[in-house]
Amino acid sequence: MPLNNLCRRLIMNRLGYLLCLLVVGLLLFIPAGARAQVIPAPEDILGFKVGADYHLITYDQAIDYLKKVASVSDRIRLKEIGQTTLGLPMYCAIISSADNLASLEKYQEIIKKLSLARGLSPEEALRLSAQGKAVVYIDGGLHASECAPAQHLVQLAYDLVSGRDEKTLRILDQVICLLVFANPDGMNLLADWYHKNVGTPFEVSPLPYLYHYYAGHDNNRDSYLANLKETQHLTRLVNQEWYPVILYNHHQTAPFPARIWIPPNSEPTNPNVHPLIVRWQNLIGSAMGAAFDSEGKEGAISRIFFDTWYPGYVTQVVDSHNIISILTETALYRYATPRFYTVRDFPPEYQDLTMSAFYPSPWKGGWWRLRDAVDYCLTASKAVLEVAAKYRQELLFNKYKMASEVMARFQKEPPYAWIIPRAQTDPGNLALLLNRLILLGIEVYEAQEDFTCDGLSYPRGTLVIPMSQPFALFAKNMLEEQRYPDLRKYPDLWQGLVQSRKIEGSPLEAYDMMGWTLSYQFNLKIQAASSLVSAKLTPLPVVNPPAGKVEGSGSAAFLLDHGQNASFVAMNRILKQKGKIAWARKSFTHDGQSYPEGTIIVSSVSRDFMDKLARDLSLKIQASGSRPTVETIEVKAPRLGVYQSWVAVEDEGWTRFILDEHEFSYKSLHDADIKAGHLASQYDTIVIPDHYSPELLLHGYRKGDMPPDYVGGLTERGVNNLKQFVKEGGTLVFLNTSCNLATGQFQPAVRNLLEKAKRDEFNCSGSILLAEFDRTHPVAYGMDSQQPVVFAESCAFDVFPSFAQKSSPRIVAKYAGDNLLLSGWIHGEKLIQQKAAIVDIPLEKGKLILLGFPVQFRAQSRGTFKLLFNAIFYGTVK
Ligand SMILES: [Zn+2]
Repeated sequence: MPLNNLCRRLIMNRLGYLLCLLVVGLLLFIPAGARAQVIPAPEDILGFKVGADYHLITYDQAIDYLKKVASVSDRIRLKEIGQTTLGLPMYCAIISSADNLASLEKYQEIIKKLSLARGLSPEEALRLSAQGKAVVYIDGGLHASECAPAQHLVQLAYDLVSGRDEKTLRILDQVICLLVFANPDGMNLLADWYHKNVGTPFEVSPLPYLYHYYAGHDNNRDSYLANLKETQHLTRLVNQEWYPVILYNHHQTAPFPARIWIPPNSEPTNPNVHPLIVRWQNLIGSAMGAAFDSEGKEGAISRIFFDTWYPGYVTQVVDSHNIISILTETALYRYATPRFYTVRDFPPEYQDLTMSAFYPSPWKGGWWRLRDAVDYCLTASKAVLEVAAKYRQELLFNKYKMASEVMARFQKEPPYAWIIPRAQTDPGNLALLLNRLILLGIEVYEAQEDFTCDGLSYPRGTLVIPMSQPFALFAKNMLEEQRYPDLRKYPDLWQGLVQSRKIEGSPLEAYDMMGWTLSYQFNLKIQAASSLVSAKLTPLPVVNPPAGKVEGSGSAAFLLDHGQNASFVAMNRILKQKGKIAWARKSFTHDGQSYPEGTIIVSSVSRDFMDKLARDLSLKIQASGSRPTVETIEVKAPRLGVYQSWVAVEDEGWTRFILDEHEFSYKSLHDADIKAGHLASQYDTIVIPDHYSPELLLHGYRKGDMPPDYVGGLTERGVNNLKQFVKEGGTLVFLNTSCNLATGQFQPAVRNLLEKAKRDEFNCSGSILLAEFDRTHPVAYGMDSQQPVVFAESCAFDVFPSFAQKSSPRIVAKYAGDNLLLSGWIHGEKLIQQKAAIVDIPLEKGKLILLGFPVQFRAQSRGTFKLLFNAIFYGTVK
């Protein structure tokens, strides 16, 4: 942008600021009764209009503005709902008529009763539906680089709070709107980055770090497990407090050249939703489409690209809670920079502007500015609110209808319940999963007596999730095995009219995971009941793991189970206390008890310290007056580096998440740190997280695409330094596809046979497979001999014997032969059956550890975290 424009904008900002001072000053002199009429417009406070070119509202500014509006209006309340990962307060803006806000608790109670349905007759439900208000949740900014949705919330709040027209008054009368900025940290980070670059050659450069501290773009994929604080707050708001009739989650990645993507959704459809949800999604999508075309806003498209199979998103999670989720994807250029398009910029199939059923008003090109995207978001949000106002009573009654039908259905058909034995490899994992399900609105019970079901006996204390509960479909969605439909079978049924594709060989891929079964990801044994459970059950508000304690006497040695994730927290605390830790290389007997290989033997710590550790971490620890006689390896506090590319990748963030959660100390290493060398003197282990491609790892952003500090990648020099690190005894751990950098650059006697595989030969973009582990290898200590693992565009290795190296690679895990697929979809499975999945490759004094599948997938695959933790500690064994 020319400098004079920049100056003009700065002057305008200053003028705007003065104007805002004037408005606020004036407000103070207006009597309270009249004051309610004067709502400051966003531009009065911000100094620029929402969606103005080159201007983004930060989260802090947005909340300041809403607070000012709330101080002069009786149509809005701001409620703090928790803190973000980086410590900002998160708010929900509750907007409705003054009368409704005065009776908020009453309406909250009505919608809760209808949503939970229990004890209500249809007549009572009808009566409550007539009295209640339609609660509609609308968020923006979950994906911070998609700027318009968060910006539009500011304008939407103003329009609703200040509007005097019939439509707005009707919405305010019938609807309670919950407006939420879903990712406050990201909104600030993004605006700061953009404003720093506006007017420079890097105005539209991508953010070189994740816009959520841990999850980046994956914050949406966190919704069914709620690892992140933000997800937990929003989950509580939606599934514990407000039970909205509609949840609208805005995004901004429309399939080009469409200007907005709206429902109906693409296929396949997740089967664990009440059919009314799908019908209303279609209806609301059509209402939005009609709103766009009646306002002359062209380019709304449906039915392609975004399917509802994977339930990890904000939207799909609530579908199985009988909340109608609406996703839209408005068109995005970059941030607040405008862009001009002509038809010649379009893909060929869109150039002749053909009208079709799901794209009846093709966009013809022209300018696209942030304000255009904001206006599209406003039209869409208001269309949703109008539908909610118009069908208020029916939507409320549907909540009751869906919940009671779901409860009745699972009294007549399986699964009748999920039966969860207390005895599991990792009881901490069990408690964590069930507590998250409770947060997500699932009722968990404990049997107060022994019982039998399907011919199996279960003791008192067994946990049960009966399916006769309002959000049972969500539990089913999380715990059953997924059978991804073969999209080749019914082309007419599956394909939208606008996405006709010839499907041969490999089926169409899902937009995200094809299988996700959480009990498999957590390595838990959970049984579906094929008959009704008849036992006395009591509901649990929280599931506690068995209390931890140190058993036995003496303090010469303490023995810990290697199979529990909490044991890794324990090891990190023990090492920080200068305690000593050894891992048994073989199974052994001590004090009359037998222990498996990998057993953790702790010494040089006090009994008091271990007592506290056991209590705090719910661990059973065995004390002994003597050290066991068994061959061991000693592990030390790892000097750990985690590579952080400037091409920000979510896997790096999730890796930090689980390292922080398990109390590892580490340093994030950037390209410059690795290029500076001398790594072996500083680190034992360096982890290279999953990355988009080895080329991007090596070369990073190109010169000119980003400010100079962020270009270039690892480079050959960085790779040479990593090689030197291994030569001098370092351990390099590669995660999932980053293994391709190892096989390409380090010339190990190992090849990823999937690296060049074609889509019609092999395709498994996200499923749960069965793997076999060599439990005598330190990386697999604590694993079961067979366990489910996540596979997502992962690796399968051929290992060649070699004369060139002193010792050959050792296979730590391989994919199963028969019964390979546990959940989801795989095409071409023969290619990877019994092939290596994890390899330990000795190289000079050090080693490469290739973890060929995502062992810490989105911080969800808790059954396999220990493979990474073991590899990190193993790096300290010399
Ligand atoms: Zn998005």
